[in-house]
Amino acid sequence: MGNRYSLKKRVLVTGGAGFLGSHLCERLLAEGCDVLCVDNFFTGTRDNILGLFDNPHFELLRHDISQPLNVEVDEIYNLACPASPIHYQFDPVQTTKTSVMGAINVLGLAKRTKAKVLQASTSEVYGDPTVHPQPESYWGNVNPIGTRSCYDEGKRCAETLFFDYWRQHAMPIKVVRIFNTYGPRMHPNDGRVVSNFIVQALRGEDITIYGDGSQTRSFCYVDDLIEGFVRMMASPAEFVGPVNMGNPGEFTMLELAEAVLRLTGSKSHLRFLPLPQDDPKQRQPDISLAGERLGWAPTVPLEVGLTRTIEYFRILTGK
Ligand code: NAD
Ligand code: UDP
Ligand code: UDP
Repeated sequence: MGNRYSLKKRVLVTGGAGFLGSHLCERLLAEGCDVLCVDNFFTGTRDNILGLFDNPHFELLRHDISQPLNVEVDEIYNLACPASPIHYQFDPVQTTKTSVMGAINVLGLAKRTKAKVLQASTSEVYGDPTVHPQPESYWGNVNPIGTRSCYDEGKRCAETLFFDYWRQHAMPIKVVRIFNTYGPRMHPNDGRVVSNFIVQALRGEDITIYGDGSQTRSFCYVDDLIEGFVRMMASPAEFVGPVNMGNPGEFTMLELAEAVLRLTGSKSHLRFLPLPQDDPKQRQPDISLAGERLGWAPTVPLEVGLTRTIEYFRILTGK
């Protein structure tokens, strides 16, 4: 980090060695910030940030965000949290601790340093929604005791903490609700649908469709989301969110499988498996608020983003 007289903005990215965090670190460095990446490498890897170590404005700290952290920063992006069901269900108690204790610690840090702090929340706060598409005003339909609850309720509690610190201490907060995002550096084994389908197609293995494949998701390319994050952080102080970010283009899992097969030229077959517990049937963001307040909308079509992601996985898997 630059010394305290440096003119560069000092930005902390928790979870900076993960999929989204590594793209964010890269973007912030390109904008001329000093970037401190804090990560405990639970799901992130040094490989994701290998290209950044030569940059003197990049620094890495191995630390678990559920523990207090004393650093001097101007802005904080709080991304630390396992994001895929396989990872967040591996140690559900730690998942809740990461979201809740992590939020308390970054908020305490932000309070002391007067830093602006952005929370990476999730569309999962809407649970299995009964309103479609979901506007920010929808309160959600979440099971508090299911196997997804450690993630959903942890993220909901983190939002509560952000808004209470804002009300109680007049702190500059920003809350973004991220919908399914994909791109290079997704984890190949984290069970998310885009990475699963691409890796299966490249290896010629069966494409695993859970349920009948009629459930829908909306997929946002990573570069679009990072642009949204940066705009949100720079937005006027009175705009705190929560704001939805995602791509409203909605596809069934069968349509996604067909697109991946077409773009990879794979001959893989479809295999139908049981639907996991509490798996939402539909998900599509209403992004009109982000459009009005941030002038933001995604620009990368699914086929373009999938093609870039397939290229990444071709190199990773050697296929
Ligand atoms: P990821 O698993 O690739 O990244 C999470 C990072 O946080 C990893 O590097 C991991 O090692 C780190 N981490 C986990 N627990 C930690 C802890 N206790 N202390 C320090 N570091 C810790 O996932 P991602 O897709 O990059 O997600 C980043 C954030 O965005 C998460 O908060 C996630 O909930 C949110 N999000 C992502 C998506 C998506 O589609 N990718 C959707 C909604 C929300
Ligand atoms: N905290 C931190 N770094 C700081 C300041 C605070 O990790 O630079 C942690 C602190 O340990 C506390 C949490 O943030 O557990 C909340 O801080 P706050 O000031 O809101 O509460 P308090 O310290 O009064 O419990
Ligand atoms: N899914 C699937 N096959 C897979 C992985 C996932 O059909 O190999 C389905 C899953 O049941 C869900 C959707 O794809 O309906 C998106 O799953 P993912 O885990 O990527 O995201 P989330 O459920 O968190 O939105």
